[in-house]
Amino acid sequence: MYTFFHLTKDVQRFKNAGCECGVVGKSHLGQDIPYLFLGQKTGTNVLVVGSTHAREHITSLLVARQVWFYLTQKVNLHGGIYFVPMLNVDGVRLCHEGVDWIKSKEQRDFLIETNGGYDFALWKANANAVDINVNFDAHWGQGASNVTKPAPANYIGTHPMSEAETVAIAQFTQQTNPDCVITYHAKGQEIYWQFFQDEVAKARDYRYAKMIANYTGYKLVGQMPSTGGYKDWCVQKLGIPAVTIEVGDDRYPHPYPYHQIDDIVAKNLLVPQKMTNTIFKEKQK
Ligand SMILES: [Zn+2]
Repeated sequence: MYTFFHLTKDVQRFKNAGCECGVVGKSHLGQDIPYLFLGQKTGTNVLVVGSTHAREHITSLLVARQVWFYLTQKVNLHGGIYFVPMLNVDGVRLCHEGVDWIKSKEQRDFLIETNGGYDFALWKANANAVDINVNFDAHWGQGASNVTKPAPANYIGTHPMSEAETVAIAQFTQQTNPDCVITYHAKGQEIYWQFFQDEVAKARDYRYAKMIANYTGYKLVGQMPSTGGYKDWCVQKLGIPAVTIEVGDDRYPHPYPYHQIDDIVAKNLLVPQKMTNTIFKEKQK
């Protein structure tokens, strides 16, 4: 399994190898959310995010593998890539460690009660029991699966952008101003890209999503009945293309088995590079 501990070790390893490392912001429980940057800030920039949902922590290993590949191989990149391997650092720790690492007894009791026990392996939310991917200000609260009280998944929070992680990644995205966002989830081998775009943006975003579908072999999926996601917010508020990539075959359960990581890496290794270079070339026209 790829834990918060592994990520911390990897960040140090990337730093030692010359990679720019920094902090996106703090989680609900005050932990740093790390980012890495490779390439040049001029030209086209792409932002890649893993583990918005806690139990999908295999996507953090995927993003870490991407970082290591781009760092050590001579990759032809027309710009730069920001990587946030683990947005939901608290949630991932809950999945792996339960609540023992949390100092506040009140916080531990709240989480155990909300979870209905001590096993957090299937937890998706942050440590405030809010699902980060339905907390963004983009048709917030109108999703088909929305829940209105603390829960292991799908709770929208008290108001849009109520969570530390939501605000941190939103501000980071605005500051870094990427040309495109790629957000990794598990599972289903599908790509979501649509969120009420106008016709011009829709044609553009479809092209990029189709390019990724062709490369990965994953299925393109149109408008979904879910709202308030990070991808939705990027499309609606920033007007940039954003894709949610659901890695992994549906025949496997959650948490997604790590013996399948090589297949996931093989299908996704070059996605950030292809996106960067495709957008760069389009901008030259
Ligand atoms: Zn997810």
